[in-house]
Amino acid sequence: MQDINTNNIHTLTALISKARKITIVSHMKPDGDAIGSCVGMYHFLDVCGKTDRCIVLPHRAPAYLDFLIDKETALNTFIHEDKPRQAEAAIRDSDLIICLDFNAFHRTDRLENLLDESKADKILIDHHLNPDRTKFTLSFSETEISSASELTYQLLMRTPQINGDAGKLPQRTSIALMTGMTTDTNNFANSVFPSTLRMAADLMETGVDRGAILAELYNQYRETRMRLMGHVLKDLMVITPDGVAYIILDSEVLKKYYIEEGDTEGFVNLPLSIAKVKMSLLLKEDGDKIRVSIRSKKGISANKCSQLHFNGGGHENAAGGRLYMPKDVSDIKEAAQYIENHTHIFMTQENEK
Ligand code: 5GP
Ligand code: MN
Repeated sequence: MQDINTNNIHTLTALISKARKITIVSHMKPDGDAIGSCVGMYHFLDVCGKTDRCIVLPHRAPAYLDFLIDKETALNTFIHEDKPRQAEAAIRDSDLIICLDFNAFHRTDRLENLLDESKADKILIDHHLNPDRTKFTLSFSETEISSASELTYQLLMRTPQINGDAGKLPQRTSIALMTGMTTDTNNFANSVFPSTLRMAADLMETGVDRGAILAELYNQYRETRMRLMGHVLKDLMVITPDGVAYIILDSEVLKKYYIEEGDTEGFVNLPLSIAKVKMSLLLKEDGDKIRVSIRSKKGISANKCSQLHFNGGGHENAAGGRLYMPKDVSDIKEAAQYIENHTHIFMTQENEK
């Protein structure tokens, strides 16, 4: 953890302490790690005596994360797709911007230009490959870690306010960080390091109720998700001779099952339980683009596949991207052929390595 050193921690606390107004930002279509790290940092700022702070997100968070956002936090959270003017004003007015769980401004969608133009100090706390360090006053980038939430935890533990005692973290910070780490590891299935298990143990010791978090995350889905999952597994999942599984959810099927953001969480992982499947793709039609999620087994790079063929990137075994219509495919009906062609080229190259 090269970036977590005494000097950088000192700079972090100095930047927070001199800031007048702080904005916390995360990526488009925020997931558990985005919300967990933002909410965790938000409540930590209280400990620093910083009450003029807010969270700005490009889009709404899925409903299953609502339990992390209490009334006071909700009042200070501005969603750009709902309240663009308030979200933009918050970024313009702040003199410190803390960027969590993304590696480049374009990952914030419509906030990109504002962040680029802002003269505020900016701090990056992220676990993706190839961060754009030049854009930040201070960067904490670590890829050998489970999540941005865990990285935030490691950082906060080193601050003078917390001083290595997890019990000094506000309880809402602890719950949020435990939640973000849990979702990004798919409940301790991927990217788990010794430090991840230590964090979980330490937070449980401070009274974080892991069972209660799991009940919120995994036992509150709508029935329609399960119905769609059945349809996906029986009829929609395709496996190519290269061992690539793909699932295409067009707007028709999304409408038929009344699917909302978050309802298809985890679908992309399902085909990986099949021995011959080496990589799995989930495609969702979304206006004039198709959102792509990619997961891969060891030895196959989801990140590279996304960068080369799906206009995206991410982590070695979990990445995201998109196909634009009509640039990449003229409509969703061509998506299957696109995947078959492009993943065949990709898997051939990977297998020759
Ligand atoms: P998901 O499939 O859950 O949308 O994304 C998987 C992972 O890849 C997440 O950590 C997400 O932040 C990251 N990711 C998704 N899209 C992109 C992208 O376009 N660029 C980069 N660098 N990371 C992405
Ligand atoms: Mn993350």
